[in-house]
Amino acid sequence: MPVRATKRGADRTPLDTEHDVLICGASFAGLAVARELAGAGARVLVIDRYEIGERQTSACAAPTEWLVRLGLGDSIRQTFQDLVIHTPHADVRYRLPWVFSTFDYRTLCALLWAQSDAEFETATVTGRTGHTVHTDRGDLRAPLVVDALGWRRVLGSGEPIQPPNARLSRGLEVHPHGAREELEFWIDRRYVPAGYGWCFPAGDELRIGVGSFDPRFHVKDTTVLLAEDLGERPERYQGNWIPHQLRPAVEGGMFFVGDSAGHCLPLTAEGIRTALYFGVACGRELRAVLEGRATRAQALARYGDFSAEHEWKFRWMLRTQRLLPRLPPRLLARVLRAMEHPRFVRWAFDHYLRVAPPSAASAAGAAPTAPYAQGLQTQV
Ligand SMILES: Cc1cc2nc3c(=O)[nH]c(=O)nc-3n(C[C@H](O)[C@H](O)[C@H](O)COP(=O)(O)OP(=O)(O)OC[C@H]3O[C@@H](n4cnc5c(N)ncnc54)[C@H](O)[C@@H]3O)c2cc1C
Repeated sequence: MPVRATKRGADRTPLDTEHDVLICGASFAGLAVARELAGAGARVLVIDRYEIGERQTSACAAPTEWLVRLGLGDSIRQTFQDLVIHTPHADVRYRLPWVFSTFDYRTLCALLWAQSDAEFETATVTGRTGHTVHTDRGDLRAPLVVDALGWRRVLGSGEPIQPPNARLSRGLEVHPHGAREELEFWIDRRYVPAGYGWCFPAGDELRIGVGSFDPRFHVKDTTVLLAEDLGERPERYQGNWIPHQLRPAVEGGMFFVGDSAGHCLPLTAEGIRTALYFGVACGRELRAVLEGRATRAQALARYGDFSAEHEWKFRWMLRTQRLLPRLPPRLLARVLRAMEHPRFVRWAFDHYLRVAPPSAASAAGAAPTAPYAQGLQTQV
């Protein structure tokens, strides 16, 4: 894990600022929004409680094409053409029509950040009043505010999101040093009754974890068990809650992107690609406001509609998420084997990629031409 670098003590000077755009959260979603605003001539401030890239928030595997199109290729650590699933009664291998890569979080964040021209401050967001955002370093104001703060949705106006009752999954992983060849998953009740285990190699590091769709199931013991079954040391822990239901992407005049809007895919807990995808969409709407092509109200409406149009896909994946654990293990093995046919794999995974297609990524700071949001939608 990266060494803690966040400003402390005397360096944590008071802040009292006014910007055109305030982006709260400097991970996948927030940095993707900032990148879209490069060259717009606006005063953009990004804040996070940690320095950029300081705290890894995932196993960091994403479709390679997304990384390449965003100019993040140098962060890639290992690339996989096959996906291997282990169950108690079958091992299956799917040859993907596209490739996945694991990447280094710190490098990826640095590369995304280098493509933006925003300012950055470390500050912890505690809440908001209207368009004034309260932080531990003071109040920050902007007419355009983005919540990219992750599953807590800190700037939401509803009840605070509280596990284990909220629609959340939980994930925990360990990062031992080591090397393996395959991108592997385990659907096995020995590790988790509803969910899956994984091992994602990333060069000289393994990311071994367990995710539970049921937030009440504690994943620590079985994460250790999976690591030990693989002969690896359970060390360097990293975990978090994962939203598995779409939430409104606009609320109280704020834009919500990534996990704060429930943009993580419910069936697979894949949330990096979607955070980037909706970050690009949100950034384009904000840019239209900054360039005088739209009002804030129009941008809110269009971004909210754009996110909501994906609702049926998220609902469908949530249904499948709930069905999977109900299948008896022998039947599950038969279903997974039947799906091994190359034509089916291609069809299924191409559809899956199109939920948030890499074609939505643009060159850094490219000004979209109207009707830009329309263009994004037609690719879905
Ligand atoms: C164990 C685990 C493994 C995962 N593996 C994968 C994977 O391999 N591939 C994949 O696609 N998805 C994966 N996911 C899901 C993925 O991590 C999330 O969907 C993704 O990180 C969402 O990005 P985001 O930018 O919306 O939020 P986050 O990445 O959670 O970023 C939120 C940012 O906000 C900051 N922040 C939070 N609260 C405050 C506050 N109050 N004040 C200031 N700053 C704050 C945080 O420091 C952070 O930088 C995994 C999740 C878990 C838990």
